[in-house]
Amino acid sequence: MRSFLTASVLALSALGFATACSQSDAQKVVNTGQAKVASLNVDLSPELKTLITTSRDGTHGYDITESLTTEIGARLAGTPAEARARDWAIAKFKAIGLENVRVEPFSIPGWERGVETAQITAPYPQNMVITSLGGSVATPAQGIKAQVAYFESFEALEAAPAGGLEGKIVFISGLMKKAPDGAGYGPANRKRRSGATEAGKRGALAVVIRSVGTDSHRFPHTGQMRYAEDVKPIPIGALSAPDADQLERILQTGQKVEMNLTLTPRSTGVKPSGNVIGEIIGTESPDEIVLIGGHLDSWDLGTGAIDDGAGIGISAGAAQVILEAGLKPKRTIRVVAFGAEEVGLLGGRAYAEQHKAELDKHILATESDFGAGAPYEVHQGVGSGQDVIAQMAAAVGLPFKADIDTNGGPDIGPMHDEGVPVMRFQQNGIDYFDLHHTPDDTFDKIKPEDMAENVAAFATMAWIAANTDENFK
Ligand SMILES: [Zn+2]
Repeated sequence: MRSFLTASVLALSALGFATACSQSDAQKVVNTGQAKVASLNVDLSPELKTLITTSRDGTHGYDITESLTTEIGARLAGTPAEARARDWAIAKFKAIGLENVRVEPFSIPGWERGVETAQITAPYPQNMVITSLGGSVATPAQGIKAQVAYFESFEALEAAPAGGLEGKIVFISGLMKKAPDGAGYGPANRKRRSGATEAGKRGALAVVIRSVGTDSHRFPHTGQMRYAEDVKPIPIGALSAPDADQLERILQTGQKVEMNLTLTPRSTGVKPSGNVIGEIIGTESPDEIVLIGGHLDSWDLGTGAIDDGAGIGISAGAAQVILEAGLKPKRTIRVVAFGAEEVGLLGGRAYAEQHKAELDKHILATESDFGAGAPYEVHQGVGSGQDVIAQMAAAVGLPFKADIDTNGGPDIGPMHDEGVPVMRFQQNGIDYFDLHHTPDDTFDKIKPEDMAENVAAFATMAWIAANTDENFK
């Protein structure tokens, strides 16, 4: 880690940049929510100057995200709404001037939400706000009425003896830590992913979790879950944070708590999805690809604005800025709107499979899938060309950090596993998990100035990577 950091600082000074921002500068950006780090003395090419100025003065990404979230709204993978989003993306990509616009189809297992209600029936009867987790099986239509068994965390459930939860509804609590880089998500998300399996193994009838999120609003957070193959699947839902608090208070009285839980989602069989692709074809090496993207699908509760309408707006908006400037890259810049990300990175996997033969021609890839907050740091996975990435970072006034474990975004993961070099603009996601996968993920949460900063970053990355001789391998 140290040698990478040293290399990046050396690279910056070798390029004649006056300052490299420190970690605390990045923190200041996060704390104040301001997009721009104090101006660096960077000599920008006229092309880059145009791209960055046009991005910052414009509303390219913001407008595209507004169009998607307004005209399509929620777009759950495999549904007619996701199909309408593909049609929308084809029309939008063509309208901004991208070439080779096409859909690359694939199939997914469909799933849709049904009735979702929860009531405490004893000792203090009242309704709770709940939502099914993606992929969950259903309760009987009349629901399950059972005693609640409390676990303060997923780890506490894992440590519980085998068996002993027969006939119970398991409640898994546990808070998620708020952090600008979303570091609390991985640990907090274990109960969502594997709660049904761990409770099912011990004989439980159903599971409710405290939503994986950092807010205290009465919105439950959905998200995909998985069943282990050798355990009987049981239904699982997420309570909003205030409802989880309420349930805990009732449990703390020491009385026997009974709940009636009705969740009736269903599998809908094999359904169509697809990745939508558009390109700015390279003038000298058209077969070499710089990939930028976001995911087109969303959860069904909100309108998928921060997750991930913003990523579609940022990546397509960056391409639009380049096209508007009339600039011609040497390599091809490919914009990908991935399908079916939320339900298991199915679009990213399909892309890596369908493009296997040309993955070695993918020069550099990045995805925006962490909301609409301004970027405050640039990361690169192991690879060459750190001076070039440092140049991208400095051009938009951001500190550069060479990592050993950076992924370029969820849909980029499968191609990164096959050797495609990746980088990432770390966005300020301090509020991301307040909204993530809730009915409150809507367009009004997005700030145009933050979107413009992201578009400037993506346009800079795409332009530099498409014109350098570096291969980043
Ligand atoms: Zn996402």
